[in-house]
Amino acid sequence: MNPTFLQTPIDYLKGVGPNRADMLRTELGIHTFQDLIHLFPHRYIDRTRYYKVSELQQTNAEVQIIGKITHLKMVEGKGRRLVATFKDDTGQMELVWFRGHKWIKESIKLNVPYVIFGKTNYYSGKYSMPHPEMEPLAEHEKSLRSAMQPVYPSTEKLTNKGITNKVINGLMQTLFLEAKNHLFESLSKPIISELKLMPKNEAIFNIHFPQSQAKLSRAQYRLKFEELFYIQLQLARKNMAHKSKIKGYPFEKVGPIFTDFYNNHLPFELTGAQKRVLKEIRADLGSNAQMNRLLQGDVGSGKTIVALLSMLIALDNGFQACLMAPTAILAVQHYNGLLELCKNLNTSISLLQGSTKTSERKIIHENLENGSLSILIGTHALLEDKVKFKNLGLAIIDEQHRFGVKQRSKLWHKNEYPPHVLVMTATPIPRTLAMTVYGDLDVSVIDELPPGRKSIKTVHRYDANRLKVFAFIRDEIKKGRQVYIVYPLIQESEAMDYKDLMDGYESISREFPKPNYQISIVHGQMKPADKDYEMERFVKGETQIMVATTVIEVGVNVPNASVMIIESAERFGLSQLHQLRGRVGRGAEQSYCILMTSFKLSSDSKTRLETMTRTNDGFEIAEVDLKLRGPGDIMGTQQSGVLNLKIADIIRDNDILKIARNEAWKVLKDDPTLLKEENRIIKFVYTQLMKFKNIWSFIS
Ligand code: ADP
Ligand code: MG
Repeated sequence: MNPTFLQTPIDYLKGVGPNRADMLRTELGIHTFQDLIHLFPHRYIDRTRYYKVSELQQTNAEVQIIGKITHLKMVEGKGRRLVATFKDDTGQMELVWFRGHKWIKESIKLNVPYVIFGKTNYYSGKYSMPHPEMEPLAEHEKSLRSAMQPVYPSTEKLTNKGITNKVINGLMQTLFLEAKNHLFESLSKPIISELKLMPKNEAIFNIHFPQSQAKLSRAQYRLKFEELFYIQLQLARKNMAHKSKIKGYPFEKVGPIFTDFYNNHLPFELTGAQKRVLKEIRADLGSNAQMNRLLQGDVGSGKTIVALLSMLIALDNGFQACLMAPTAILAVQHYNGLLELCKNLNTSISLLQGSTKTSERKIIHENLENGSLSILIGTHALLEDKVKFKNLGLAIIDEQHRFGVKQRSKLWHKNEYPPHVLVMTATPIPRTLAMTVYGDLDVSVIDELPPGRKSIKTVHRYDANRLKVFAFIRDEIKKGRQVYIVYPLIQESEAMDYKDLMDGYESISREFPKPNYQISIVHGQMKPADKDYEMERFVKGETQIMVATTVIEVGVNVPNASVMIIESAERFGLSQLHQLRGRVGRGAEQSYCILMTSFKLSSDSKTRLETMTRTNDGFEIAEVDLKLRGPGDIMGTQQSGVLNLKIADIIRDNDILKIARNEAWKVLKDDPTLLKEENRIIKFVYTQLMKFKNIWSFIS
C-alpha cells in the first residue's frame, strides 16, 4: 500500500491537464487518483451482440449493427444535417449528423462494411441513428475490446467539454496501470474466504475492464458487499455502544399485575406476532441495558395491547410508565381504551393533555411525584418541565413520525437513569430500509393481523362517477354505517386545499341534507376544542359523515365507520393513502375504501392507485413507496448514509445487505474492539471511515 500515491492530485495523471482537472473536480468531485479509481460505472453496454436492421425495436436502448453506407446527402434548412443511408442484408436505415459534417464526409468510405453503435430513433416507419460511433469492420475485428463496456456517471458540461465516456475510459486505463500495485485488500481474510469474494484489486480491475459477465458480477458483488459491510459495521458499533454505555433498570420479574391480567383479563388470545414481539421486549427489559426499540405494526395489528403488557411489567417491578400520543384525540382514545382494559386491575391511570384543568394537573403532578400514579397517558403535555415522575421505567411513544429525537430525549431526562423506550409506529418502514436506517435501534415487527378481520375492499373511481358513489354511501348509511370523506391538504397551497374542502362540504351537504343526515367537519384551521367536539359527535354516532382533511390520519378509532372516500387520491402519497384506509375495517362489517380521482393521472399516480387496490399489506405498500420515491424521503435515511452509496442499491441489493449485516455483527460479537490480528484490516478501514466519512475515499 502506498497511500501517498493514491492521494496524488488528479492533475498529475497523464492526459489530464489543468482544464480537465477542474472539470473533473467540479462536475464529479474527483480530486485524487483514488477518487477516480472509485468512480464506478453505473451501467455496461453489451457489445457482444450484433443486431440486424430488421430486428430493431423502438424499445432498444443502444444497438450495434454491421452494414454499409451507400449514400450521403446534406439536408439543408432548419436542423441542417448530414444523412447517410445505411444498409445490411435485411433492410436500411439512416445515420444522421448535426455537427462535424466536413470531417465525416472526408473520412467515410462508401460501400465498405462498418460497425455502427448508438441509440436509434424511430420516426414514421423508419429507424435512424444520430451521431453513431463507427469503425470499419476490418479494424473492429482487429481491436481487442472488452465485450462489456462501462458507462461512467457524467454531466452535460463534461460531455460538452469533450470529456466523453471514451475519454474517461482512457483515463481509467492509464490510471489503473499505474495504480494496480497500490491497491490493498480492504476486507479480512476470513470474510473473503467464507464468502468467496473476489480480491480487491481484481474487483477494481473487473469493474472498469470486465473480462467477462461472470467476472463483472463477482466484482460488483464484492464491491457492493464491501460498501454495505462498512455501513453496517458502523451501525452495529453504535448499537453495541448504546447497549454497553446506557444502563437501564433491569425489570427482572414478571409479577402479579402482569400475570393476573394475562391469565384473567386478556380480552382475546394474542396473535403469534404479538407474542413474539412481547418476548423480544421482555428480553430487553430484563437486561441491564436501556431498551431502545421500535415496534412496527400495520394499523389494526394490535400494538396497544403489547404496549399495555409492557407497561404492566414496569409496574410489577415498581416503576411507572407513560404513553405519549401525537394528538389529543388519540391520547383520549388510548386513555379510554386502557381504562377499559384495566378496569379489573388495581392500577391508577391518568390523562394529561393541553386542555387538562389546572386543578386536575396539580393532582396529577403530585401523584406522579409521590408514586401513587402508575400510568400516565398524554400528549406533548407530558414533556412539560413540571411533569416529574417518581421513577419512570418505561416510556412508550405512539406514532413516532410525529416526534423528533429531541422531544424523545426530553422524556429520558426525567429521572436519574433513562427509562426504557418503546416507539410504536404504524408507518411500515420497509424491512430493507429499517435494517439500514435503524441499524442502531432494535426493531420488532407485528406482521400478522388479529384473526377474523375482513379485508377492506378498495376501488378506484373517477370523479365522473360521483353519483354512483353517493348512492353507495346512502346505502351504507341506511345499513347504519358511517362514512369518512377526506380531502388532501398540502401545506404549500393550504388556502386552495381549504377551498376544495369547503366546496366539497357544501356539495355533500346538498346531497345529504338534514335532518336525515348529519355531517361532521374537521380540519386543521379549526380550534382544538371545536375539532374535538366534531370528532366526538362522529365517534358517538350522532353524525353519519365525517368530512375532513388528513388530520384524522392518525389513530382515530370508530369501528362503525365502514367507508373511506379519499378525494383527489392522486395527490396523496402511498403511505398516507394506506394510513387513511386504516381508519375503516375496524369493526365486524365489510369495509370499503374508494379512491376518487380525475382522469388525468401521472404514471406514478397510476402505480399508487393500482397498488392500493391490489393489496392491504402495509409492508408491501411501503416497498412500492420506497421504489417510487427513493429512500430520500424516508425518515433517518440522511444520517444513515444510504443515500451516498456509490455502487450498492439499497432496494435491489437487499440480499447482499442482509449478508453484510450478519457479517458485521459476527465480527463485532467475536471481537468488539477489533483487536484480533485477522481484523486488523477491518479496524484500519473502519478508523479511516470514521475520519473521512466516505468509505471509498480511502479504501484502496
Ligand atoms: P394498532 O396497532 O393500530 O394500534 P390496536 O391496538 O388499536 O391496533 O388494535 C386494533 C383492534 O384490534 C383493537 O380493537 C384491538 O382490541 C383488537 N385486537 C388487538 N389484538 C387482537 C387479538 N390478538 N385478537 C383479536 N383482536 C385484537
Ligand atoms: Mg394504535
